[in-house]
Amino acid sequence: MEIPVPGTIVDHFEKVFIDEKSVDSSAAKRVIKYFPPEKIKVVDEQPWTDHRGELSASQFDRSKKNLFLTPFAGQFFKRCPGATQKKTLTCCNYYVLNLGSQCNMNCSYCYLQSYLNSPIMKIYTNIDQALQELDEMAVKHADLPYRVGTGEVIDSLSLDELTLYSRELISFFRKYPRWTLEFKTKSDRVDQFLDLAPAKNVVTSWSINPPLVINSEEHGTARFHERLAAAEKCATAGFSLAFHIDPMIWHPEWKESYSGLVRELTSRFSVEQVNVISLGTLRFQPEQRHLMRERFGLRSLVTSAEMFPSEGSKLRYDASLRHEMFQFVRKEFLSNDPRWNIFLCMETPETWIQSFDKTPMQVDGLKDFFRPLPGIG
Ligand code: SF4
Repeated sequence: MEIPVPGTIVDHFEKVFIDEKSVDSSAAKRVIKYFPPEKIKVVDEQPWTDHRGELSASQFDRSKKNLFLTPFAGQFFKRCPGATQKKTLTCCNYYVLNLGSQCNMNCSYCYLQSYLNSPIMKIYTNIDQALQELDEMAVKHADLPYRVGTGEVIDSLSLDELTLYSRELISFFRKYPRWTLEFKTKSDRVDQFLDLAPAKNVVTSWSINPPLVINSEEHGTARFHERLAAAEKCATAGFSLAFHIDPMIWHPEWKESYSGLVRELTSRFSVEQVNVISLGTLRFQPEQRHLMRERFGLRSLVTSAEMFPSEGSKLRYDASLRHEMFQFVRKEFLSNDPRWNIFLCMETPETWIQSFDKTPMQVDGLKDFFRPLPGIG
């Protein structure tokens, strides 16, 4: 079955640069087939290499509109950044497989604004090498419950119709049923893999917020009902689901908004279909504030928020507001059904105790997520 690259992806990019080392890759072949020739340039080095240091607002915007297909030279497989701040954060056993960097969507709070300094979006063309790394790891660790996500510095699915990496990853993870693979997205792009038999250990997950927050802060992403419709398609096809209500963003009617979100999720999905729900509140590095203000103005719920320095050097809401938001949403879920599996993402042990009265190791159903495993990478 031929799966075309949709026009929305072709139209999004001003230019696709193909590293001459990647010309024979499957991703490059799809670009050559579906993009008009005037948008494609084969190059022997990354464009704009003269750039050094932080990106300006216009450079950051340009980096989302231009794509570089290139092999990745380092180690693909890494621990989630939260795990490297173990002293301050309670973090689950999560590993990340970065198959590119930058994002074609544009959320006001996006942490990539302080994390990336590359002037161009990248998709790595050597996925076979990434899978080889995982195969090597499986020699020792195939029976441990590792969780692997592909959506840390690039959305897992928003450009998947260009690469079709989901198809290779699903087939690969079927070999290792003890491991879990998570596709994490704010898009609704799932049709390209739904013809594959579902793998029980592949979780399709959505970062989700109430419509008011999506419409105000999550630009270029799939709208609320589009995301839920995509999740329903995955559930019907037999994939497990997860939802990340993260970052929760304060606004005057936040209780009404988040209780509406919980109502919608609990009426459309069952506890059995949803692997886990994670909660997080707004947080960002102080140094990205000026870039966010320049790019999104002061009317955004994010740029105008009152934030305080906290753990891991990030700015967060005041601790009492964070607890109130976590407790409120948790209670909404548990009053629907006490079996909803809820955890806090990148939060301190103190917040766990104050918001949930427990550490994750004391919550049935979450122990496996947090039990320390041998570290890799
Ligand atoms: S979808 Fe995720 S990676 Fe993309 S802009 Fe939004 S927060 Fe950033």
